[in-house]
Amino acid sequence: MVAASFDVVILGGGPGGYVAALRAAQLGAKTAIVEKDRLGGTCLVRGCIPTKALLQSSELYTLAKSGAEFGVIADNIAFDWAAAQKRKTAVVDQLVKGVEGLLKAGGVTVLRGAGRLVGNGIVEVAADRITAKDIVIATGSAIARIPLKGAEHTIDSDQILELKEVPARLAIIGGGVVGMEFAAMFAALGSKVTVLEMLPQVLPMVDADLVNVYLKHLAGVGGTVHTNSKVAEVAKVKSALQVRFSEGGEGGAVDADQVLLAVGRAPYTEGLGAEEAGVKLERGRVVVDAHLHTSAAGVWAIGDVIGGIMLAHVASYEGVCAVENIAGHTKRTPDYHAAPNCIYTHPEIAHVGLGEKEAKEGGVDVKVGRFPFAAAGRALTLGQTEGFVKVVADGRSGRLLGAHIVGPRATDLIAEATLAVQNGLTLEQLDLTIHAHPTLPEALMEAALAAQGRAIHIANRRAAPAPAETSAVQNREQQMVAPVKPPTSSPPPPTAITLKKLELAKENRDYLLKLHRLMQLIRRFEERTQEQYTKAKIGGYCHLNIGEEATVVGGILPLKLTDYIFTSYREHGHAIARGVDPKAVMAELFGKEAGTSHGRGGSMHMFDAKLRFMGGYGIVGGHLPLASGGGWAVKYNKQKDVVLCMFGDGATNIGAFHESLNFSKVFHLPVVWFCVNNRYGMGTPVEAASAVKDIYKKACAYDMESIQVDGMNLREVMLRTSEIVEKTRADSEPRFIEALCYRFKGHSVVDPDKYRSQEDKEKFRKSDPIVAFEHELETSGLATEEYFKTVRQEVDAEVQEIIKFADESPDPDPEDLYKYTYAGEWENRPELRGDPL
Ligand code: FAD
Repeated sequence: MVAASFDVVILGGGPGGYVAALRAAQLGAKTAIVEKDRLGGTCLVRGCIPTKALLQSSELYTLAKSGAEFGVIADNIAFDWAAAQKRKTAVVDQLVKGVEGLLKAGGVTVLRGAGRLVGNGIVEVAADRITAKDIVIATGSAIARIPLKGAEHTIDSDQILELKEVPARLAIIGGGVVGMEFAAMFAALGSKVTVLEMLPQVLPMVDADLVNVYLKHLAGVGGTVHTNSKVAEVAKVKSALQVRFSEGGEGGAVDADQVLLAVGRAPYTEGLGAEEAGVKLERGRVVVDAHLHTSAAGVWAIGDVIGGIMLAHVASYEGVCAVENIAGHTKRTPDYHAAPNCIYTHPEIAHVGLGEKEAKEGGVDVKVGRFPFAAAGRALTLGQTEGFVKVVADGRSGRLLGAHIVGPRATDLIAEATLAVQNGLTLEQLDLTIHAHPTLPEALMEAALAAQGRAIHIANRRAAPAPAETSAVQNREQQMVAPVKPPTSSPPPPTAITLKKLELAKENRDYLLKLHRLMQLIRRFEERTQEQYTKAKIGGYCHLNIGEEATVVGGILPLKLTDYIFTSYREHGHAIARGVDPKAVMAELFGKEAGTSHGRGGSMHMFDAKLRFMGGYGIVGGHLPLASGGGWAVKYNKQKDVVLCMFGDGATNIGAFHESLNFSKVFHLPVVWFCVNNRYGMGTPVEAASAVKDIYKKACAYDMESIQVDGMNLREVMLRTSEIVEKTRADSEPRFIEALCYRFKGHSVVDPDKYRSQEDKEKFRKSDPIVAFEHELETSGLATEEYFKTVRQEVDAEVQEIIKFADESPDPDPEDLYKYTYAGEWENRPELRGDPL
């Protein structure tokens, strides 16, 4: 009998399952969670939480024993295992209760019992059957077993948590995370610990330098580690146990009172009926696609059961991704490049991103910086100076690729590095951030400085470079340094664009008003540029983008500062939206030395290496192959950056367009093709110029995801572009966006503007993106007509200043005209100097 029906049913109440259930309920889905044991899963009941609670006891015991040094005198310090166990149980119980409470408050139905997939959206729980539109498998993992003679004498990670006393001698088979955390715990409590590992290194996924610090500590408390050691048998010898093994061809034996078998965990699908329901398994794990969907319709899977990174926070992250995909909220592809890994040994170990060896093997020219905790004031005050921070960065861009920490509270310290790796921040962005003193995170800042030869609190290995030689991608603080006072309408700083961030709500007011102001600045800049052109202040051609402001701002702001933009000659607004100083943009149009390309590029070529703004290009569509090249370079360097290529509809009628799209698809390049379909402006209707009216359909020919957005609607462009950019960042597949807008001008400033009817023009003007956005802001109570008027006046004054600056800037010296035009050759080619004619 079908007892109830739900939108989403989650099988398994671990950190993957319960987080997914709460998020699904938040998204408005009628949700149920099925759990056969206790809510919280392995993490809360038998994993992360109980181990960390006991490790806290062992750490405190160690500290207490060294209390005299800190002036704390206590006699007869002893360890009460039973009390530590009681506390551990209390912590676990409290958290499990917390999860129960959260689910109840979130309106999630909890069903007790083992769930089984029956097919066609039906789940069996005990004798009942429930139906679900979507099902998420989150059944986790179980302890892995190996065929070992005498395995029945061993205990596993569940049983060791329930021991009645601390064993005098503990042998641990397996030097993975679980084995090494228990080694740290019991060695600190006085057990004689011996670890036997088959591989050449315990914690094989960790940088060997970090592992060595822990091993030294472990040896200091009497622990022994045998690597390259294969255990043959566990035998009972009188009332004790003996582990027999071979190490480099020699036989060995360890006597122990308890033997922990910790050889990993395996995905758990027992009794789930997965394969019968059409869910494909591969060596026990549930197979999922890039969006966490399984081979069965409407069935998804997350967490340990899909293998991969088997950690609680990864399970939770996947849970959120999966249910957001179910809700159609976004189409999320999990991105694991910045998934941190924490190991709670004494001292702790944590790492995120690429290791030095891995990065080098990947062909990256790396920069490495280290900083020892022995030189960190806070570590000294804590009396915990073992270990160091090591950062690994891309030698060219300075982007942080990975961080590796062994030392006090390494597991907390990794958070800052994780944020940096996730967001592609550079060493400079880290070290230009003010770090409180005295704190442990200062060690990360110093390691970032050390990588650049500028550490303050240790001697540097090589001389500090002069500030001018800092890497190509600079801190925002430096990027925004303008020749004069920075403009008030500079773009808001990069931020993750989400539906929530763009809601017309009070908390987003400042951000939305900044967007509005930026569009106004671009509009006014272009209008005044046209005037300056007709006054012959600007030479050559001058192509405007009046009317395209929502497309430009919405298309460029979702990029990270480390992403690249390749754009066309209609670029003034693009440069301003990217954060290039408008004064330098206008000075470039005026052909002045203070311009973005020192007056050498004029109206057809703006360029700013620091902002990765790869400038305009004078030939229609000529920059599309360059963008493919950029995508290729990003991929070759294994960066996580995206290349955005902006071009007009005219560019889509030439061969370079097709070749570039084809190349990007064949080689899976991270390029987002962004077509500003301004419908040939007011000059010529697009249907008269192009055989295919819907340009996004052209990209379908290359089998890439391609969308059309309303380019007059700022928030729509931003949100959809952000989604596309992040997908491309995650899977390095090219994608295509066509933004439909109207340019309120013809092809160039002097276009006769006569091919559209008056009626057409009126219609287009009514959808003016700035007016439309102002209407949205006004009706939602975020701004008034009075405010818009003030902004217009302020922006007007700002643009006036911009023109004045450009007008008064010096012309380039004719003697130096070839300077900057032959990259790097100026110094060595005296014949380039002097009169070019
Ligand atoms: P689980 O947490 O395993 O949850 C799955 C749940 O599904 C279980 O409650 C199970 O009872 C239930 N279930 C299974 N089958 C069914 C069914 N058919 N019907 C209903 N219910 C079902 N990770 C970290 O990130 N940090 C740590 O410090 C850490 N320490 C650990 C220490 C130890 C000793 C161990 C063993 C693991 C540790 N882990 C740690 C790993 C972490 O616990 C797992 O990665 C995490 O719990 C996986 O979450 P999950 O939701 O995928 O699965």
